[in-house]
Amino acid sequence: MPMISTERDSMHFDVIIVGAGPAGLSAAIRLKQCAKETNREISVCVLEKGSEVGAHILSGAVFETRALDELIPDWQSREAPITLKANDDHFVYLTKKGHFQLPTPPTMKNHENYIISLANLCRWLGKQAEELGVEIYAGFPAQDVIIDNGRVVGVSTPDMGVDKHHQPLPQFQPGMNLYAKQILFAEGSRGSLTRKLTDIFDLRKNAQPQTYGLGLKEIWQVDSELYKAGSVWHTIGWPLENDTYGGSFIYHLEDNKIAIGFVIGLDYSNPWLDPFAEFQRFKTHPFIRQLLEKGERLNYGAKSLVEGGFQSIPQLTFPGGVLIGDCAGFLNVPKIKGSHTAMKSAMVAADAIFKAIIDDQAEAIEYTENLKKSWLWEELHAVRNIRPSFHWGLWPALLYSAIDQFLFKGKLPWTFKHRADHTTLKRAADSKRIEYPKPDGKLSFDRSSSLYLSGTFHEENQPCHLQLKDSDIPITYNLTEFEAPEQRYCPAGVYEIIQNPEGLGGARLQINAQNCLHCKTCDIKDPQQNIVWTTPEGGGGPRYSDM
Ligand SMILES: Cc1cc2nc3c(=O)[nH]c(=O)nc-3n(C[C@H](O)[C@H](O)[C@H](O)COP(=O)(O)OP(=O)(O)OC[C@H]3O[C@@H](n4cnc5c(N)ncnc54)[C@H](O)[C@@H]3O)c2cc1C
Ligand code: SF4
Repeated sequence: MPMISTERDSMHFDVIIVGAGPAGLSAAIRLKQCAKETNREISVCVLEKGSEVGAHILSGAVFETRALDELIPDWQSREAPITLKANDDHFVYLTKKGHFQLPTPPTMKNHENYIISLANLCRWLGKQAEELGVEIYAGFPAQDVIIDNGRVVGVSTPDMGVDKHHQPLPQFQPGMNLYAKQILFAEGSRGSLTRKLTDIFDLRKNAQPQTYGLGLKEIWQVDSELYKAGSVWHTIGWPLENDTYGGSFIYHLEDNKIAIGFVIGLDYSNPWLDPFAEFQRFKTHPFIRQLLEKGERLNYGAKSLVEGGFQSIPQLTFPGGVLIGDCAGFLNVPKIKGSHTAMKSAMVAADAIFKAIIDDQAEAIEYTENLKKSWLWEELHAVRNIRPSFHWGLWPALLYSAIDQFLFKGKLPWTFKHRADHTTLKRAADSKRIEYPKPDGKLSFDRSSSLYLSGTFHEENQPCHLQLKDSDIPITYNLTEFEAPEQRYCPAGVYEIIQNPEGLGGARLQINAQNCLHCKTCDIKDPQQNIVWTTPEGGGGPRYSDM
């Protein structure tokens, strides 16, 4: 059982896990399994910034069950929400008006995989964890790390306000310091504490820069004649230029619903590019239009995903803690799948953490050693050159990837490098301006009506969670050089350049922080790394249901 300290504002656990995604929850379950197998007690606390488990989870999602089979082999009889098998794969190239089918790359074949809602899988994993005695506190972000003598010893939660929809437990209030022998960081893509720890412990010193994509997703109810449960489609090509990495996914869910989404690599160079507007105009392509035009849009959301792969994996352990899942960068980009790898990394880490606690070690070094022997390492190593080959443009990359995968099975001896996403923008004056069509309100929409469907909410009267290191840079650098790209890359319209009334001089950046979808794109793409995303108070942010 956790010890409640005499000081009202602190609690002590054996293990704290930051983030209740597939990684955090799998780690929690595995730790409790280890304790059960060895007849020991271990207190495990999971902190989740979303108002409930799943509220901040957004994924495709085609799910590979490999890690879950190892973690909970009887998941089927425990009624996991994994029921719809993927039954066909299509890989399509879109021209401006037409389309043609391409051979499906081996990494995109989904035979034996399932189409799921990852948010609902997390809700189910949360239930499994709680049945084993894990304490999950949703609506409680970990805002900062507590370091003592070079070791991470705890995390703090914000001072004020769990949101009004959320009832704090009597022993667990905002503004607490939580301490543990070991802390697993499972914050997902571009974790805010992960970023801090990376600087403190220099975790990226031997790794390539992490790179990211922005994923935008909607759920639609569609006409039954065009719908086939279990069907999986991916497109490349229009509306993106060949030098921009990205494409769409369309997964046919149950009950005439489809998940339709668009991912754009955040190493794009044209500052006029607007990922949200690209997604909206993609849906107006004749091939996509016919699927949607008798349908209705139900949900909208956006989230970044890690794309660096094998060569971007940072140092994973440090005194008092480890990184697991997407915040360590385990997503397999060519597969567009990271749930199974997030879970596997969590399970390997949990075994090492359990041993470190028993042996009273400061650092769970066996985690990295064991991960290198696991299928996850092999899987990421084999596809490591596909994403960076897209620096040459779409067609050379497809050719290289075909040779690399079909002929050499990812065993060619070299490893390509990455470039950091915030370094790639060209000046606006040197780039082709992109004119986007106005939304038609049927297939394509504006940001505000989309945001409404995400359920995003933040309590008012809290400090802005989007912090500028230098408040002049948005105008003196971003606006002058790039025409304020934050106005376009933010999928929630948080950043607006406002022209001041005459006499008050120039322009200023307005930050509508209450709209934030927690996608982290601003933290990633800002050219001077001047925007720092921090956790807002309470359970603020999107309220995704089936994403
Ligand atoms: C558009 C898109 C499509 C995708 N498609 C697929 C797919 O088809 N198949 C697949 O397998 N994978 C897919 N992925 C990838 C997959 O979703 C991720 O790899 C996976 O969710 C990673 O799990 P995680 O637990 O590491 O992180 P996440 O799922 O991101 O979970 C992190 C959790 O931590 C919480 N958190 C973060 N910071 C804090 C904090 N400081 N305090 C408290 N809580 C915090 C977050 O709110 C969140 O709930 C897709 C991703 C995207 C964005
Ligand atoms: S403010 Fe940043 S994190 Fe929030 S939605 Fe916009 S780009 Fe994403």
